[in-house]
Amino acid sequence: MTVPAPEKQTQVVVVGGGPVGMGLAIELGQRGVATVIVERYPEPQPIPKGQNLTQRTVEHFHFWQAEAPLRAARTIPRDYGIGGMVSYGTLLGDYHHDWLQRELVREFYYTDNERLPQYATEAVLRRRAGEIEAIAPRYGWTAETIAQDGGGVTVAIAERNGPGRERLRADYVVGCDGSHSRVREEAGITQTRSDHDRQMVLIVFRSESLHRLLQRYPGKSFYNVLHPDLKGYWQFLGRVDLGSRWFFHAPVAPGTTRETFDSARYLTAAVGAPFELDVEYLGFWDLRFAVADTYRAGRIFIAGDAAHSHPPYGGYGINSGLEDAVNLGWKLAATLQDWGGSRLLASYSEERQPVFASTARDFIERSIHGDRDFLAAFSPERDRAAFERAWQDRQHGARTEVGAFEPHYEGSSIVWGPPGSRCAATGTHRFAARAGHHLAPVLLSSGRNVYEHLGPGFTLLALGVEPDDVAPFAASAARLRVPLTIVRDDDTASRDQYEARWVLVRPDQFVAWSSSAVPDDPLEILARAVGYPQPPAS
Ligand SMILES: Cc1cc2nc3c(=O)[nH]c(=O)nc-3n(C[C@H](O)[C@H](O)[C@H](O)COP(=O)(O)OP(=O)(O)OC[C@H]3O[C@@H](n4cnc5c(N)ncnc54)[C@H](O)[C@@H]3O)c2cc1C
Repeated sequence: MTVPAPEKQTQVVVVGGGPVGMGLAIELGQRGVATVIVERYPEPQPIPKGQNLTQRTVEHFHFWQAEAPLRAARTIPRDYGIGGMVSYGTLLGDYHHDWLQRELVREFYYTDNERLPQYATEAVLRRRAGEIEAIAPRYGWTAETIAQDGGGVTVAIAERNGPGRERLRADYVVGCDGSHSRVREEAGITQTRSDHDRQMVLIVFRSESLHRLLQRYPGKSFYNVLHPDLKGYWQFLGRVDLGSRWFFHAPVAPGTTRETFDSARYLTAAVGAPFELDVEYLGFWDLRFAVADTYRAGRIFIAGDAAHSHPPYGGYGINSGLEDAVNLGWKLAATLQDWGGSRLLASYSEERQPVFASTARDFIERSIHGDRDFLAAFSPERDRAAFERAWQDRQHGARTEVGAFEPHYEGSSIVWGPPGSRCAATGTHRFAARAGHHLAPVLLSSGRNVYEHLGPGFTLLALGVEPDDVAPFAASAARLRVPLTIVRDDDTASRDQYEARWVLVRPDQFVAWSSSAVPDDPLEILARAVGYPQPPAS
């Protein structure tokens, strides 16, 4: 007779403890949601993938109380710089320009960006998760089956290197289990794929002589080489630390294997000069674009690479995934803690899916196509003057791209955005507090940044308004049981920057509503922002 696996009850099971799963667990755990995180590896895997953390991502680490350890874990000294560049033909070729200069949008975010190997980021997140009582980590366990019914979801888990078997019963399950997501498959969530499939090589290697060769480009940590033969797909080199370790990925011929691939030869050709190297890791991965058609099936959600996979061009992978985690985290907590309306959970897919589809289409694919067209049209061998003019235009384009990436939820049903607008990744960075957009940080008359005043729930910024006008908002929040922090400031500077006297900020630092006029019906405003189709009857 087989003994049934013991069953444990929790509120949320997160499958996959990569960066996105760990971030989500922290977001939930800090909000008091009982969360089990199931991750098949006992330790983070030592592959230096997603390194490039945007200013927005580091804001998450700030709220997760993990910003200082994240910065301490960086492997490249701060004064060296973490910029990127593009070169033509070979890395040491005649033409290069700066790329992905995130400092251009620095003032619109509360924190600086950061760069460190993904395993180091994951270690920081694991340590932080370990401090939160509501999180029960199951490292070294694999989720085998996921089944939902009207009352909850059951996840069968198995010890990876042992005989342990258990069943976890939860209100909700989130698959943060990467691009081959089992959770996505078991939930029957379909994906739309586009036809970029390519085999890519990933080489992690040591080389001090490459560091010496690249001293001609001070302050740069990642390098993208455009080669006419590769039709817009990149040869991408990144520092893992300063001076000795590197990673490199690039397209290879289909069917290439470890046995047939010559790392030193490929790398020498990409760099454009011979150098000594020791290969530490050689592997292959599939470059593809796949976006899940929905991020939710009933009580099952997906986030991160489980929901969207694409080439790591522009550093959108880990950063998009962590934004998924933050978007979903407060909505699950609000629903479980009984202050979320009936359409709050649906708004996760409604907001995040089109933002990613737009990221893939308007930034990643567009850059591949743009590079492909550029390489086909211009060549210094054919017409040097025309090439150099076009190269200068590219340099300018690289600057505008950073500013144009501004994911927003203007079209969301829980935001008071302009009628007819849509959620997308394209936008403009501004200080004005616009419904559906990220809140820019400004200094208040207290001398402190508004980000230091934001509460864990919703925050109402009341800038130069009458005290009596604030009271109905507080009463509406109490009636809906919505945690609301009210921040008042009578100085004019912040209201001028925000172009509004009233700003309702969500727990993920996006603006739900803003206005300069005294609101007629605060209950209606708040009710929509927490997902009620209409304000509840009294
Ligand atoms: C070579 C390379 C370079 C990259 N560079 C960048 C970059 O510079 N910037 C950037 O933003 N992104 C980059 N990316 C992409 C980035 O690494 C991913 O977007 C990121 O890892 C996504 O995180 P995730 O947590 O969603 O998924 P993953 O990191 O894939 O984590 C999924 C986790 O789930 C676990 N898991 C899977 N199935 C199960 C199961 N059944 N049970 C339990 N656990 C399970 C896995 O062990 C894993 O830990 C790069 C990717 C590659 C391949």
